[in-house]
Amino acid sequence: MTTDCWGSVCESLRSDVGRDAYKNWIEPLRFQGFEGGVALFVAPTVFIGNWVSRNYSDKIRSLFAAEGKDIERLEFSTARTKAEPKRGVLAKSGSRLKTGSAKLPGASLDARFTFDSFVVGKPNELAHAAARRVAEGGPVTFNPLFLYGGVGLGKTHLMHAIAHEATRRDPDAKVLYLSAEQFMYKFVQALRFKDTMSFKELFRSVDLLMVDDVQFIAGKDSTQDEFFHTFNALIDQNKQIIISADRAPGEIDGLEERIKSRLQWGLVVDLHPTDYELRLGILQSKIEIQETHYPDVVIADGVLEFLAHRISTNVRVLEGALTRLFAFASLVGREVTLEVAQECLADVLRATDRKVTIDEIIRKVADHYNIRLADILSPRRARSIARPRQVAMFLAKKLTSKSLPEIGKRFGGRDHTTVIHAVKKIEELRSIDNQIAEDVELLRRMLEA
Ligand code: ADP
Ligand code: MG
Repeated sequence: MTTDCWGSVCESLRSDVGRDAYKNWIEPLRFQGFEGGVALFVAPTVFIGNWVSRNYSDKIRSLFAAEGKDIERLEFSTARTKAEPKRGVLAKSGSRLKTGSAKLPGASLDARFTFDSFVVGKPNELAHAAARRVAEGGPVTFNPLFLYGGVGLGKTHLMHAIAHEATRRDPDAKVLYLSAEQFMYKFVQALRFKDTMSFKELFRSVDLLMVDDVQFIAGKDSTQDEFFHTFNALIDQNKQIIISADRAPGEIDGLEERIKSRLQWGLVVDLHPTDYELRLGILQSKIEIQETHYPDVVIADGVLEFLAHRISTNVRVLEGALTRLFAFASLVGREVTLEVAQECLADVLRATDRKVTIDEIIRKVADHYNIRLADILSPRRARSIARPRQVAMFLAKKLTSKSLPEIGKRFGGRDHTTVIHAVKKIEELRSIDNQIAEDVELLRRMLEA
């Protein structure tokens, strides 16, 4: 009788969520019946249970209600319990999700970190493409995939996205994601409990191994050793490995040479610092999420552009700023204007106010115009050198807090009136000469990035 009820819920779900989503998420579930106000399901993986819980529980509850069955919540457990603990695929145990199933070996996955929510731009397109390819499975083409880049540029996001996608495509795939720190912790525990056999077995039985922030094991010799053996065993079996770090393999001090060189066997791709366009794109996509929580908040024109321009360090900070803005705006019930944003984020803006130096400006300008640094500082007056020099002076005035005499001094001991003249000249040229306007804008962006 109860299964009949689930049958009709399924019917409605199929037309409601679409055939693909239905096949991926609903069909694999086994309905177990009701217990009190709880509908019990068995899901093939924690990830699927988690996903359904997050995305479909309201819908499923209301469909049950339409069948005359009022339930409070859904509960998912996984089919594979203690008998086969190693097959458990890792997933974030969302607050609503009670799996009560096997102890899972890896770290939890953030359900928000998917390919769908990852905004692609020039700085990360290669890393994204490589991650996609690996997630698709199929023949292993580059092994390992080594992703590196600064803090908050999306390494962890991409790795979780790979895990989600790989388990979606093949729910039986043994995907193991963990940080290098957790790898070490588990290894040390295994040593302590004299259980290195099952440690080895566990790591060598996965189809896809992801180790995040591998720089952590630099200098930790026995962990490195174990990592190296695990790594080799998996590569030999043609199992995909994905590694991330905050810098290139060759630059990780305290990492054994043999490991460094092994890490470079596959594909090494870096996530570049974000540029203005990517930051704006990320803000626009995050704003859609915030708007679902705070439907009444209005963000004035220009605010996102302002944030994308001013907060250039790291995407995490950018997201935090946006979250704070929305919370603030919903509390005080005001439209978020530029002034409100500046006031509300004063501390963040101050902290990320990057200090551009005159040296940097001179270097970038020389680079851009393909002239020598010494030429900029020299007395030469040829147009091909004088113009870039003026651009550099202009930028020094606009982007640093240095006084006119100070700037003059740094440009080969020139007078402050020369600097005034340069600033005026470039102001003027910018409005009539597109090329100059573009050069200045490009340089400004590069310097502020
Ligand atoms: P990392 O591991 O490189 O330090 P994370 O992957 O933890 O960085 O990213 C930090 C935050 O920024 C996360 O919330 C992540 O979702 C977000 N983020 C980073 N890059 C992007 C992107 N391209 N699109 C959307 N969100 C991003
Ligand atoms: Mg990370």
